[in-house]
Amino acid sequence: MTERLYYSDAHLTSFEAKVVEADQAGTRVVLDRTAFYPTSGGQPHDLGTLGGFPVVEVIDEEERIVHVIQGALAVDQTVSGSIDAQRRFDHMQQHSGQHLLSAVFEELFGWQTLSFHLGEEASTIELSAAAIEPVALREAEERVNALIGENRPISVAFEDAAQVTGLRKDSGRTGTLRIVSITDCDRSACGGTHVSATGQIGSVILRKVEKIRGNTRLEFYCGMRAVRRTREEFEALAAVARQLSSPFADAPALVAALQEQVKEADKTRRKLALELAGLRGRALYQECEAGEAGRKMYVDRRATGPLDDEVRAVATNFCAGPNAVFVAVSNAPPAILLAASADAGLHAGNLLKEMLQAAGGRGGGSAQSAQGSLPSADALETILERIAHL
Ligand SMILES: [Zn+2]
Repeated sequence: MTERLYYSDAHLTSFEAKVVEADQAGTRVVLDRTAFYPTSGGQPHDLGTLGGFPVVEVIDEEERIVHVIQGALAVDQTVSGSIDAQRRFDHMQQHSGQHLLSAVFEELFGWQTLSFHLGEEASTIELSAAAIEPVALREAEERVNALIGENRPISVAFEDAAQVTGLRKDSGRTGTLRIVSITDCDRSACGGTHVSATGQIGSVILRKVEKIRGNTRLEFYCGMRAVRRTREEFEALAAVARQLSSPFADAPALVAALQEQVKEADKTRRKLALELAGLRGRALYQECEAGEAGRKMYVDRRATGPLDDEVRAVATNFCAGPNAVFVAVSNAPPAILLAASADAGLHAGNLLKEMLQAAGGRGGGSAQSAQGSLPSADALETILERIAHL
């Protein structure tokens, strides 16, 4: 059974131990005692070195803790272990911050913490709340940081599960429980590593809120992560404010106003584009040479792009002239548009439908205007050939 040195001293980052088990390659190692924290309870494992070899993973197997190393160690060797102190302390800050945050949400709103995840960047808790209003976030954030300012001691005790009282959440375990207490604030059964007083958490900031399974997942950052996150956000907002030449506080309203302007400008652009397309359709008709029967036919060929409102406006206005046929085709995606003036003597919808069906495509329309799509561009040529001889 591995003695867990971090149980009694979370600040311990170097230790000596004896190898009691190792696999054949010597890369999976069990010690008689360890300060390495294994992945469990939402907290990732420590990194560091063992006997000078990098420790890449630490696994909790209840009775034993397995260290996966890049190197080889043998049974009975005495080795020195060294924990990546910065990573560990960061985890202690996030984890202790979580206890405090969970206690505050319970105290203020009666919401329970259903799960905890300590991520590479952000940490999250899932709360038994259908929704969280910004005002509740502000209140919880202020309360948590006030408790940090009070620097309340965080202590560890071992108590019998049958006798234990006042836990924030039932542990469901039997035997001896490790109880982590924040003075006059929280008592939780937990095997993780924590700071010694709330002041060491530094600060807690609350961020993204998401709905999940009818509950709410809340993102938070503690300690140096909170400092870095705030700096990143400051720089992002500063860049936006610089672009707008405005104070921070005015930026959201200015961005909203700009978005409205862009929407309006886009509406005007579309209207003008359609007007222009209409003029182009009329001009094309004027320039188009009439064929033998006096018919004016124009074919608009495009390599790509949809046959959209603008193409339709060109077609409609082209066909506003007498005895007119307008065709537009696009190779990708393969599509065709056929328009005809009322006096052209053909039904665009029926004609195109029949030609498309023969080519494995689909589409149709009215006597004056029809559109359709094809499985490939190959059939477009055949259809164009037929239309040319109408
Ligand atoms: Zn804990």
